[in-house]
Amino acid sequence: MSFPPNAKPDPLEIERKLLRQHLGLGPNPGDPPADSPPQIQPLFFIEMAPDSRRGAKCKLPTCDENIMPGELRLAMNPAMIYGGWSKSSASLYHIHCFEKLADFTHADFLDQIQPLTRQTWKLRGINAGSVLDGNYLVPGGVERLVLEWKVTHGKWIDKRDGVCDESEEEKRVYADFLALLRKAGSSKYKQHMKPTGLPHDKYHNLLVTLAPYESDGPDDTEEWNLFDTYLDSTVKAFNDPHDLSTMLQRWHEDVALVSKDVDGLDERGRAAKARLGAKAIRALKRLSVIPMPSLAA
Ligand SMILES: [Zn+2]
Repeated sequence: MSFPPNAKPDPLEIERKLLRQHLGLGPNPGDPPADSPPQIQPLFFIEMAPDSRRGAKCKLPTCDENIMPGELRLAMNPAMIYGGWSKSSASLYHIHCFEKLADFTHADFLDQIQPLTRQTWKLRGINAGSVLDGNYLVPGGVERLVLEWKVTHGKWIDKRDGVCDESEEEKRVYADFLALLRKAGSSKYKQHMKPTGLPHDKYHNLLVTLAPYESDGPDDTEEWNLFDTYLDSTVKAFNDPHDLSTMLQRWHEDVALVSKDVDGLDERGRAAKARLGAKAIRALKRLSVIPMPSLAA
């Protein structure tokens, strides 16, 4: 196919090719991979934009909005640099902008997503001081949502590609851990099944701080659940290139609502907060806390 003589190349199409090559893939889907894999495999961190006066520039060529402090953003580390590598720098994007470049229906992209937490921040090359000051790390709710979104997407990829589901033996081995991940916080979850080998502090975090359920007790027939509320696990969402940013935006809006005093809200805000209800508000407050790295780590 030939292009009209004055047609400009699509800047996003160029960026998509560069991103693929940055990951060690061929420039187009189906092309053979690069001769040598990248020295450092780039990771896509979901993180909280730190304090700054004017925010940071989004790297998408067609976006001219800054990413403001307190917004969730995507940091690709190492950055895409022409003709060289830099271990400490990162390319920053609005999440909805990065979704225009990356295809998360493929494992090559999906596997690189990491929420920036007490467990992953060292991979990002930022200094401990700013992390301990409360910058960069995401709240517990975002951590759980991003990881569960990754699992859900991975399952749809396996299904599409005809990859076998995990075996019954694997399911049995991980049953206690899966129950903790999915059922903690529910009055029906049996707390005594601590997964073997899980350190106590991590167990406590998953059992209480990061629990997806919020319950009013054994008689509660409408327990609140983080994943049911924000994560769309249907195939339609899998095929929507913006479902990660949509999920996180919905979380972000509810958390903003919860953090505001009723007097500071307009009529619509007050109605929306009332619709959330006391249980969801309690859950969102708990899950807005950022689990911090221990100083000894
Ligand atoms: Zn942008």
